Amino acid sequence: MPDATPDTSQKTAAPDLPPVEELLAAAVHALGGSERQGQVAMAKAVQDAIDAREHVAVQAGTGTGKSLAYLVPSIRHAMASEAAVVVSTATIALQRQLVDRDLPRLAEALAAELPHEPTFAILKGRRNYLCRYKLSAAWPEEDEAEQLFDAREVSATGRMVKRIQEWAEDTELGDRDELVPGVNEQAWRQFSVSAKECLGAQKCPSGAECFAELARDRAGQADIVVTNHSLLAIDAMEDFDLLPEHDVVVVDEAHELVDRVTSVVTGELSESTVGFAVRRVGRLIEQAVADRLLEAGEDLKALLAAAPAGRIDDLPEVLGMTLALVRDAAFACITALGPRGERRGAGEDPEQAGIRKAAFTALDEVHDTAQRMLDAFGHDSEVDRADVVWLDEGTGRMPPRLNIAPLSVAGMLRDKLFGSRTVVLTSATLALGGAFDGLARQWGLAAPGDGKKATWQGLDVGSPFDHPRSGILYVAKHLPSPGRDGLSPAYLDEIAELIEAAGGRTLGLFSSMRAAKAATEALRERLSVPLLCQGDDSTMQLVKQFAQDEPTCLFGTLSLWQGVDVPGPSLRLVIIDRIPFPRPDDPLASARQRHVAAKGGNGFMAVAATHAALLLAQGAGRLLRSQSDKGVVAVLDPRLATARYSSFLRASLPPFWETSNPDMVRGALKRLASES
Ligand code: SF4
Repeated sequence: MPDATPDTSQKTAAPDLPPVEELLAAAVHALGGSERQGQVAMAKAVQDAIDAREHVAVQAGTGTGKSLAYLVPSIRHAMASEAAVVVSTATIALQRQLVDRDLPRLAEALAAELPHEPTFAILKGRRNYLCRYKLSAAWPEEDEAEQLFDAREVSATGRMVKRIQEWAEDTELGDRDELVPGVNEQAWRQFSVSAKECLGAQKCPSGAECFAELARDRAGQADIVVTNHSLLAIDAMEDFDLLPEHDVVVVDEAHELVDRVTSVVTGELSESTVGFAVRRVGRLIEQAVADRLLEAGEDLKALLAAAPAGRIDDLPEVLGMTLALVRDAAFACITALGPRGERRGAGEDPEQAGIRKAAFTALDEVHDTAQRMLDAFGHDSEVDRADVVWLDEGTGRMPPRLNIAPLSVAGMLRDKLFGSRTVVLTSATLALGGAFDGLARQWGLAAPGDGKKATWQGLDVGSPFDHPRSGILYVAKHLPSPGRDGLSPAYLDEIAELIEAAGGRTLGLFSSMRAAKAATEALRERLSVPLLCQGDDSTMQLVKQFAQDEPTCLFGTLSLWQGVDVPGPSLRLVIIDRIPFPRPDDPLASARQRHVAAKGGNGFMAVAATHAALLLAQGAGRLLRSQSDKGVVAVLDPRLATARYSSFLRASLPPFWETSNPDMVRGALKRLASES
């Protein structure tokens, strides 16, 4: 097991390159900006971390200019070491900002200061690129759409398929994100393959012009490679390299790292995953063997339909037997398929190879997931199990499904990611309750007592905004604690009065979609300003409407907590209905909380309060997006003022001026509205 402590015996030698401060100053000057203290401090910290080969976590508030602060030392290191630096993001929006705006401008600005103009490329998982071979060949049909959806939706998917085929004739990059408007997963899957399904460039008749391979080639030549957290995690975990060789990684939007990595290693089993494998193996094997898997899938379907949703701590005997049936039937299909491609020699017909590989991939997935679920219950004590299994109930289109995810990804991150690279982690929200420890523990960087010296530093470079002068944190202490039965009339009255005082201009962040919809329904008639709700249209379109029309309000849930960036007078008030703790029946959060408590820690603070602090800070961070912004963050949950954990949560928020006086807040909002 590699040590999480990077080797500090060598220093990066860059004798001919200007110091990072000088490069940053040149870049800022060329881009027409001015020196920002936090940006300089962050650039130096990143450079020091690279030189010392020591991980660093930097919290940098909105407006710091953090992308420049890490890109400048990253480019410098790439030039000095002649190896790429990888920059990973959680969202496509940030990827686009880096590749379409920040990096082109920065490369041009620094060209004269460096041996050559910095180069950059974007690299995503194979699924994100059009597969030329699948486009042209008789690949097994992705007929899931027809099985699951009604005729109207199938025809909508059909139109998307046609649009992809037209686009495929012109596209130069074959990148799904170029397709605007986007297409649904069913349509895209007709023309894309996973890394496991890909035939490999050597065998594939389209290998020489493959979009995914061309993207890899471009990344191999670049100084900076932009990717996402999922690909970063897969590259770190697998034995083969997906990303070019690198010794430094910058993880931006690092507050999302754990969730994204957990998603990558979460397995799922349902009637549809089994049915999909049966269709894939279809006519390739004897009918009776395929039928065995079909029947096992039917058993699973009946069992899951009757079982209660939620975490499964004890494996019911009948579920254990059904999982074993599914596993064994999948294994029988794998055996019946015969030797795998690599053992069938180079002479195999590529079309057949593609069909067989797709079948192996789907069967392996079913077999390995069923086995992993059976293994999950092997340990004596349920609190010490490495994996958590739970059942999600079916919703409209989706059948009930069994899931399995690791209790923690800390060990994996420590060994696979931090063990062999220098990692820079950054976000506007990393120091929860004023300290980095909570997230560092989840990353595997703080593991006291396990004998590992995790060498890392935490640095908060602050924010250029004057929070106490620009923003008010209002906690509605007079309201009752939020109950289970939706929003009480007192909450609706409070929201209506705040919105009226602000003249609209409100972003409502709710802890559930149900609450967002209920509030919208109840207030639409009552308010004179337009009120949009997430789900009315695409979120991008709704945010655009909200930003363009000052009185318009927008209500919604999770993706709005982190994804809205609206500077200016269209956003003067952020309303948060309740402290966003994970639901008590959240299977992973509750298992993690139980595990911490069993080890003598405070499970509530380590898991639920940390989760809530992160989201609250992200939600409150929507208010001030530029130096001239002003406004109010109104939290309607009185526990933020009264509960014993409230100081931890408030210490995670920007340092706004705080009050619980509703008259004062409404007065401030009215004044702001009259200035707009
Ligand atoms: S190499 Fe793989 S992804 Fe590329 S065209 Fe061939 S099968 Fe598709």
